[in-house]
Amino acid sequence: MSTCHACTSQNFKQLFCADHGSLEVNRCLSCGFVYLANWKQSLEKSGELYDYYGRLTADDLQRRYSSPNRARQRELLKQLARDARGRRLLDVGCGEGQLLQTAQDEDWDAVGIDLSEGAVRLCRERGLPASQTDFFDSSLDHQRFDAIVMSELIEHVPAPARFLRRAEELLEKDGTLYLTTPNFGSLARRMLGESWPVIHPEHIGYFERSTLRAMASEESGLRPIKIEANNIAPSSLVAWLRHRVAGSARIGTPVDRDAERNLDQNLRRALHQSRALRTSKELLNRAISLAGLGDTLVGWFQKPAS
Ligand SMILES: [Zn+2]
Repeated sequence: MSTCHACTSQNFKQLFCADHGSLEVNRCLSCGFVYLANWKQSLEKSGELYDYYGRLTADDLQRRYSSPNRARQRELLKQLARDARGRRLLDVGCGEGQLLQTAQDEDWDAVGIDLSEGAVRLCRERGLPASQTDFFDSSLDHQRFDAIVMSELIEHVPAPARFLRRAEELLEKDGTLYLTTPNFGSLARRMLGESWPVIHPEHIGYFERSTLRAMASEESGLRPIKIEANNIAPSSLVAWLRHRVAGSARIGTPVDRDAERNLDQNLRRALHQSRALRTSKELLNRAISLAGLGDTLVGWFQKPAS
């Protein structure tokens, strides 16, 4: 029996099985949400799945704190500041603290929480205010934030609507929740099908623009401002080509984020050096965003003032 972890309905349609049948992906027939059928077993193993912070090398960290990342984060913070009344920010699942660092440099009063001890240790070594705290911990109950950020988090949690409600609770009026999550409706997923590298035991929920919008407006008091599906990572196209050539992708092995990032960085460098390639990529990205087919859903939600 398979239970939707967005609405708990047991009416579902199996979409496909990845990793030789061990990862069954279903669509809920009641709310439309796409989820991993065996998500409870995945969660039980999450301790070992999330132990990667301790394995990051100095080079990995250097790359993660690199200037293109910082520039993107500054842009995000600028947009958040436009709507916020104050500058108090909570980064949920702050990882090694890249955003905290940038937020601190940009004069935000930012704090981070993460369940990973390794991640919090890395933050603290840099003097960043992070703690190993659950989002539902009572120590947060009386705190209020002007902005809450949840990057690539909501696909990992068993009750995503609860996370949206908690964000609403902890936001100041007019405060903004910014979140990102892989786009199940993306071109890459449509091209790669069950070989989409995002299908992974760590990822138990798969969002599309419609299901993210519906969950926010129906299950929390947050108002969706915009949900975009921008950008296609060069590595998605390469994964597709690899898939076409080799007939398989790396399903079932841990997501090698650093290899993926290296590939993206090399491709970005090539794009930077060639004007023709750059123009083609910009045109492609524009078309992809308009069609809602980008790799990542980027959602902006606001807590109404009344
Ligand atoms: Zn459902």
